[in-house]
Amino acid sequence: MAQPLARDVVEEIAKQYGVCIRPVPLRRQDIVTGQVEVIDVPCGATLESKCPPCAKRNRQLRRAQCREGWHLDHEPVNIPDNADDYQRHLVELRADVQAWRDETEKAGGDTTDLDAAIVELDEEINAAGMRGNVLGRTSGKRSRSTKRRQDAPDLPKRQMTKTTLGRTFTGSDGKVYRPSMFVTLTLPSYGRVLEGAPLNPDAYDYGRAARDALHFSKLVDRFVQNLRRVAGYDVQYFATVEPQKRLAPHLHMAIRGTLPRTELRQIIAATYHQVWWPSTDEVRFEGEHLPVWEDGAGYLDPTTGEVLPTWEQALDALDQDDEAEPLHVLRFGDQMDVKGVLAGTPDADQLIGYLSKYLTKSLGDALGTDDPRRKAHAERLLDALRFEPCSPTCPNWLRYGVQPKGAKPGMAPGRCKGKAHKPDHLGYAGRRVLVSRKWSNKTLTEHKQDRRTWVLEALGVEDKPVDPHRYIWRPVKPGDPELAPIGVRLLRSVHERQRWRNHLDRLQAEADGQDLSATEGRAA
Ligand SMILES: [Zn+2]
Ligand SMILES: [Zn+2]
Repeated sequence: MAQPLARDVVEEIAKQYGVCIRPVPLRRQDIVTGQVEVIDVPCGATLESKCPPCAKRNRQLRRAQCREGWHLDHEPVNIPDNADDYQRHLVELRADVQAWRDETEKAGGDTTDLDAAIVELDEEINAAGMRGNVLGRTSGKRSRSTKRRQDAPDLPKRQMTKTTLGRTFTGSDGKVYRPSMFVTLTLPSYGRVLEGAPLNPDAYDYGRAARDALHFSKLVDRFVQNLRRVAGYDVQYFATVEPQKRLAPHLHMAIRGTLPRTELRQIIAATYHQVWWPSTDEVRFEGEHLPVWEDGAGYLDPTTGEVLPTWEQALDALDQDDEAEPLHVLRFGDQMDVKGVLAGTPDADQLIGYLSKYLTKSLGDALGTDDPRRKAHAERLLDALRFEPCSPTCPNWLRYGVQPKGAKPGMAPGRCKGKAHKPDHLGYAGRRVLVSRKWSNKTLTEHKQDRRTWVLEALGVEDKPVDPHRYIWRPVKPGDPELAPIGVRLLRSVHERQRWRNHLDRLQAEADGQDLSATEGRAA
């Protein structure tokens, strides 16, 4: 009885000191000195986390990143991130998680969590390599028969200039104004909503809501493409995807530079995205009647023995079918909000705070509420997502008679482990923060490094670049005799933090004292 209570108390203390409460222990071997240490890495350093102190720190970093790029007055110099330390760290972690997973499987354990972690890490690795650019994720896409998929809406088109900066205006006083925009984009209505739940659940279009959420990030990509085409310059943005009360994702976007509001409205209204996936109109397999796996052949119809079309074959058939319709077409809703913002105004600051405010709130938070209407609403949406294919690799394709991409034994419709089907995500499994390549000169890792450098400078410690090859990191398994109990580790971190804070305070006091004496000196 005493143990969990004690842990709660320690966690509270850790939170007060901004110390990660779910640290990831790693064994670090220094190949120069041979020294081996167990080091607690904050959970927020690897994955987007819900640990409150890490979430808070990540939010602060995001704010700094947003502020840095919004009203940039010089072109960013883009340094390619080919050997990013962060990415390397993720790749190593990925290898570790794979090893744990394989060991767990060998021992007959449950690998569900580890499988999910692998998927998440893969996404994170891709995103890190792309500097978080949603438009960059086009590798491995089919290039065949894309004509009908690339329909460009009828919009004005300006001559492209190479700049990423917005226009400036000079006032009568000679002051230069640097206006930018803040845009909020929402999805269409699926039925009337009151207090975050439909007035008439039977009339609410859950199927459409589910598909819109699944493909939302693609629609955002299209919007950015159209925006750039119309604006005539390489428009940069910092955006966050957040849940609306009705549980649909929506987007807040800080855009560098400005466009006439009417044009922006035109772009939003004209933007759409077509999902060219095989049809899911006909349910071919369900309940006990499910495709069976045969080594060397793939999934077969259990009754006829017919091999189901592979993902590639299904797409080929779709390409050849002139009558085919896209599985889904997405558009934005009528509700949009466009604000003009000037650099350095309180307005800009407020919006930056707003952009990062809800980052830790998950889309599915409503499932945990006491409001029975909202809870039921979230459950119905979750139901609608259950058999909806979330990606080409989704096992749900078997329900519609198609082998998922990369089919392997053990797949069954309704049992996809993809994030999109999870209560926390409610269809939207994409990244919550979308930052264009040339927003600022820095990646989030570099912003983290900035803070580190600042602290080390304040401490009077030289921040020497560390050779990333100097250390070998290995996982520490739970129950490892060298691993202290979590309570002890948290208290250790709190102690470290306390020491560090005291030191900073002392330095600050010294600096204040010097300033004071300098002022006094001048006064005298
Ligand atoms: Zn943490
Ligand atoms: Zn899925």
